[in-house]
Amino acid sequence: MQHTLRARTAADNGYRYPFPIAAPDADLENAARPAEGTRVKRIAVVYGTRPEIVKLAVVLRQLGPRALAVHTGQHFSPALSDVFLTQLRLDHPDIRLEIGGTSRGRQIGEATALLDECFSRTQPLAVVVQGDTNTALAGALAANARDIPVVHVEAGLRSFDRAMPEEHNRVVVDHLADLCCAPTETSRANLLREGVTEERIVVTGNTVIDVVPEIVPDEEQRRGLLDAFGVEAKRFVLATFHRPENVDVADVLGVILDQLGALPVPVVLPLHPRTAARAAAFGFDAKLERVRVVEPLGYEEFLGLFAESALLVSDSGGVQEEASVLKRPVVVVRNSTERPEVQGTFAQLVAPGAGIGAVAAGWLADIDALHARLATMPSPYGGGDASARTVEAIDRMLAS
Ligand code: UDP
Repeated sequence: MQHTLRARTAADNGYRYPFPIAAPDADLENAARPAEGTRVKRIAVVYGTRPEIVKLAVVLRQLGPRALAVHTGQHFSPALSDVFLTQLRLDHPDIRLEIGGTSRGRQIGEATALLDECFSRTQPLAVVVQGDTNTALAGALAANARDIPVVHVEAGLRSFDRAMPEEHNRVVVDHLADLCCAPTETSRANLLREGVTEERIVVTGNTVIDVVPEIVPDEEQRRGLLDAFGVEAKRFVLATFHRPENVDVADVLGVILDQLGALPVPVVLPLHPRTAARAAAFGFDAKLERVRVVEPLGYEEFLGLFAESALLVSDSGGVQEEASVLKRPVVVVRNSTERPEVQGTFAQLVAPGAGIGAVAAGWLADIDALHARLATMPSPYGGGDASARTVEAIDRMLAS
């Protein structure tokens, strides 16, 4: 049974404490009970956004009935949440919080308060969080305050760019975490440099590598996708943008859309809700008409187009790791990166501006040769056993 805690009701759009709780207390406490026939206490796995669902999917499945899945509701639109649960064959969360879209501070505060209540009633053995979202930070803070061990999946990434809210989130989570699951030796070295002790770190690989081969559609389904989107294999660009620094400033979003619109091949742009809202507010309809705007795609559809594309232009973190499995190059539109492992191979960092078109056009000029070169390169993010290693490390931590 799924239970809901609501930070705010529709009628009450302001701050209220204590928060109204939708589920009767007894029901929520039932959610804490181990599945029938087992005597094992549960491990809370907290997620709230599209990339967290993707990167925790195999961890959740491997934990099986030991997992208590908690969705904070940070991403609440079905296109960014429920479609991913379905395609990744996950049950719906045991507990669903409704923190909704609000300011960063309030989102972290509300999620922390609700998770505190959730952990106090469910008493998990450990709390697993992933990445650098407000949800991950709130999960780590709430667990730490209840003296519950914190596990950070995808620990140790650093952009060294203090302008990025994600950098602050990931640094704090790593320092609260009792177990840091670092995807690479580079991320492990970042943690050690900051004084995180060796026994708290394990190098696991990145859990997204486990999931891509399972979800990417087969060739026939991919042909269907090409037809549906009206594009030709390896002769189109797939683009995604949603980071505040790229979409919240009119000049920056304007230049990115102009660069995409001027590329010599069609550009498919699944428009993130944040980007759609900003583009509408800035009156960028004409700029959007020069690319093929579509709704945010489900994971299968996105990976299918990804595998068939010539290249990506994106500010996403996760697509850079996926690119190392699907062997496609990504123009990363950012001022800094926390993923140096793929720089110069699967990814190239480009600040918003004319460099986007220049790099993409350079790659497009001999795209088949570039694909052939990338096809020979292994992923620096592991061989697909990161989730299993993560679960093993959690069990070792709990046993000690
Ligand atoms: N993604 C998707 N559909 C889309 C755009 C992205 O399935 O229309 C997937 C993408 O493959 C990756 C994840 O969403 O796994 C990235 O999410 P996002 O860019 O929101 O977060 P980030 O990785 O930057 O933290």
